[in-house]
Amino acid sequence: MYDPLHDKSPGCGVAYPSSYWAETSGQPPENDQALTQDINVDVAIIGAGYTGLSCALHLARNYGINATVLEANQTAWGCSGRNAGFILKSSGRKSYSQMQKQWGEEVMRGIYDEMSAGVATVNQLIAEGIDCQAQQPGYIKVAHKENKLQELVDLAKLQQKMFGYDVQVLSRDELHQQYMADQNAYGAIRYQDGYGINPLKLAWGYQKLARQAGAKIHCSSPVVNWQSTGNGHQLITPNGIVSAKKVVIATNGYTPKGFHPLVTNRTLPVLSQVIVTDALTEQQLAACNFLSSNVVMDTRALKYYYRKLPDNRILFGGRGAITGKSAEDPYYANRLLQVLKTSFPALQNINIAYAWSGWICMALDDLPHIYQNDSKDVFYSMGYCGSGVSFSVQAGKRLADKVAEAAVPDLPLYNCALPKFPLAPLRRVGQWGYFHYGKIKDTWF
Ligand SMILES: Cc1cc2nc3c(=O)[nH]c(=O)nc-3n(C[C@H](O)[C@H](O)[C@H](O)COP(=O)(O)OP(=O)(O)OC[C@H]3O[C@@H](n4cnc5c(N)ncnc54)[C@H](O)[C@@H]3O)c2cc1C
Repeated sequence: MYDPLHDKSPGCGVAYPSSYWAETSGQPPENDQALTQDINVDVAIIGAGYTGLSCALHLARNYGINATVLEANQTAWGCSGRNAGFILKSSGRKSYSQMQKQWGEEVMRGIYDEMSAGVATVNQLIAEGIDCQAQQPGYIKVAHKENKLQELVDLAKLQQKMFGYDVQVLSRDELHQQYMADQNAYGAIRYQDGYGINPLKLAWGYQKLARQAGAKIHCSSPVVNWQSTGNGHQLITPNGIVSAKKVVIATNGYTPKGFHPLVTNRTLPVLSQVIVTDALTEQQLAACNFLSSNVVMDTRALKYYYRKLPDNRILFGGRGAITGKSAEDPYYANRLLQVLKTSFPALQNINIAYAWSGWICMALDDLPHIYQNDSKDVFYSMGYCGSGVSFSVQAGKRLADKVAEAAVPDLPLYNCALPKFPLAPLRRVGQWGYFHYGKIKDTWF
């Protein structure tokens, strides 16, 4: 599998991975085909995931700027077509209490407002007619240990007090009786506004809207070389050169090695693994009391997440391999299946129907950053830390504002660069260490 820390390109025209989404969503909508000639544009966007598509859409709609999107493979070939489809009012991994401590209440509220705006924008775009199999609202965060339930209750209190956020506390019995009988759960909190969607269809919907608004989207057009002339940029693709006044890097966890100095050594791509089981029978659903299709995540440092899909399969995810070379080792999918079976012992005979993985993008400070170079002609947004389905759309919108030289809120999300990883060549060693620390923490503390 393509490994962004080792490879200089994600390929050209590579097919979607054989995920549940790619195999059950039908045909992708039309794009503008691979670039076959040299072109001049005002704005080029590299990467056709949610970030790039949202940036293109908002540039066209809000500023009349018709950008050209260059995608190496297929629309949403990266994370946007591989994720678990949880729409959550959050991004990054930094907690609100940490933000409050570091920056004070006003900044913390500003960040919360931006995360909320992300969900609102996704809701509005879906309401324009995107068929992405949105499920019943509800996001359940389960305590994987007794002491974690108190932490969740404290979090719920903070969010209720600070943001008036509607958070419900569920005892283990309430969770088991009203939602699902997860044997690894000691209770939970439940937000009313998270929900599950088909992530690939969501991206395809954005693509349609962006093209209708005037953007061009060229798949099978990887940027394999980039020359800055001092008076603009030349992006070299296999069959055409794009001369652009401004360039947006929307490649997130799929950013190739050494792609651009502005982002080099500022992210850590980490594999997240997903399995989708066979459809549960009525008896299996009843034995697990699986009443809900709410999206679920636990409190582990190395999180597990799951949801019941519209056809009664279970999607279950967690951490994957460390390197691209081992990404497809069935060990990682089977490990998830074993954990699923401990949560729902009635599923002892369930099989994996689909398994795949994708590169999420970690930031050193656990926060996404939307930033630019000093001459304000190269922009990026990345570092969603595995939680970007909704916020990447807000980030794309803010990128569009920046490209069009409009004001954006004065927040660490937008006014500072992604921090560099110290000892960057050793990032994977650090990741390996964190996985071991996480395992110990999740088991013993
Ligand atoms: C398994 C998994 C589960 C996840 N689950 C959730 C979830 O449930 N909820 C949530 O909020 N977040 C989730 N995420 C994270 C979320 O999917 C991402 O934050 C989001 O999709 C990022 O979108 P993006 O557009 O920034 O990047 P991507 O979708 O990764 O798009 C980057 C694109 O850039 C292209 N590219 C790279 N290099 C080049 C080049 N040189 N030239 C041209 N194109 C290039 C790639 O081909 C790729 O298509 C998950 C991620 C994974 C991997």
